[in-house]
Amino acid sequence: MTKTYDAIVIGAGIAGASAAYFLREKGDRVLVLDKQGIARGGSGAAGAFVSPKIGKGSPLQELTNEAFAFAKAFYQDSFPSYYHQTGVVRIPKDEADAEKFSLYEPFNHQHYEKLSPEPLSDMGIHAPFESFFFEEAGLCDAPALCEALLEGIDFVQYEVKDLSYLPDLRRWKAGEYRAKNVVLATGFEGGLADLRYMGIRGTWGTRGDFASSYRLGVSMHQSMSVSANLDGVIKLGATHEKSVVSPVACEEGQALSLREKAAALVDVSDFELIETFCGMRAGSRDYFPLLGDIIDTDYMLEHFPAVTRGAKPSLHYRENLYICNGLGGRGFVFGPLMGKMLAEHIIDGSEIDPRVDADRLFLRWCRRILTASL
Ligand SMILES: Cc1cc2nc3c(=O)[nH]c(=O)nc-3n(C[C@H](O)[C@H](O)[C@H](O)COP(=O)(O)OP(=O)(O)OC[C@H]3O[C@@H](n4cnc5c(N)ncnc54)[C@H](O)[C@@H]3O)c2cc1C
Repeated sequence: MTKTYDAIVIGAGIAGASAAYFLREKGDRVLVLDKQGIARGGSGAAGAFVSPKIGKGSPLQELTNEAFAFAKAFYQDSFPSYYHQTGVVRIPKDEADAEKFSLYEPFNHQHYEKLSPEPLSDMGIHAPFESFFFEEAGLCDAPALCEALLEGIDFVQYEVKDLSYLPDLRRWKAGEYRAKNVVLATGFEGGLADLRYMGIRGTWGTRGDFASSYRLGVSMHQSMSVSANLDGVIKLGATHEKSVVSPVACEEGQALSLREKAAALVDVSDFELIETFCGMRAGSRDYFPLLGDIIDTDYMLEHFPAVTRGAKPSLHYRENLYICNGLGGRGFVFGPLMGKMLAEHIIDGSEIDPRVDADRLFLRWCRRILTASL
């Protein structure tokens, strides 16, 4: 029997769960489909640290920190049981990095303190450099949070193999399900629409949960992240394994290599590996999220071939087909703000912020087709 919804969201990671949550908040009847279950892709692997980005005020830093402020308030107000405000210490990697920290200070718009090595040592952290402490930062229980976002929303474990549009009914069809709107939140996996212009790619990563009695009240980030000790568990994350291009079994050795690395920051002598997690982070070509309508690439290339030579015709979109992706290594920072923006766009017709609008990548991609064919 056909089941009809206002919106189908494909993918139940933090991107899909956030989009579904805000669509439902606006009164939509939403169905979420995921072939693996809730938070079984990259989102299930995440240590889910939620902290500001430091730097010299780049546009990406600005956006990340807007998303951080939104996410933190959203988790604290609506999902307090799944957000642990442990604070996060940002530690310079080396002397050269420590010098840069003073240049970053004018761009730390979140509340922070500077901590010198002595108080850090009292907190159980070995760091030879003055560091920033962001007390509002923390980490989420990733799978439990995604499940909580989807509470009261229909979810079916189902692999969408064929997504088609029924023009007479003005409905999308995925198996026995129909909906006016479809959101693709499929992480690093494309295939359901032509998304080549977005340049989505995955970066494989591993993290580990370690049992420990080490007294650590705050989380920290240097070239890796170490969580506070929460109920006898310390999370270490994460590797960036460039050689892994499609999912493989998780490797304990990778999680253990994180313990070795963490030894420079904390005493890891009683750390025992309990569980290893791994997954893909789906990022965009320019590291900004990908949000909004999906362009009909075939239509554009057929009707406006000059687009490959720099013409800028009006864009033609797939009917009511949307993307929420490209959250990179910060899905739990970007997810809520992106989900809200997308729901406001779909339901209220508000403009997508140009910084995250996937349209930004289309014309450049078209020009690259010409260059590649020469
Ligand atoms: C080791 C590791 C550590 C990380 N640490 C952090 C961190 O500390 N903080 C942070 O904010 N982020 C972190 N991240 C990044 C974060 O996990 C990603 O940003 C996030 O997973 C992106 O979510 P997503 O919903 O876009 O993708 P995913 O979580 O990958 O979800 C995509 C879903 O789509 C489903 N799907 C795909 N195709 C189909 C189909 N045809 N039919 C049905 N379902 C389909 C998949 O099964 C999958 O569940 C980490 C990631 C990794 C791997």
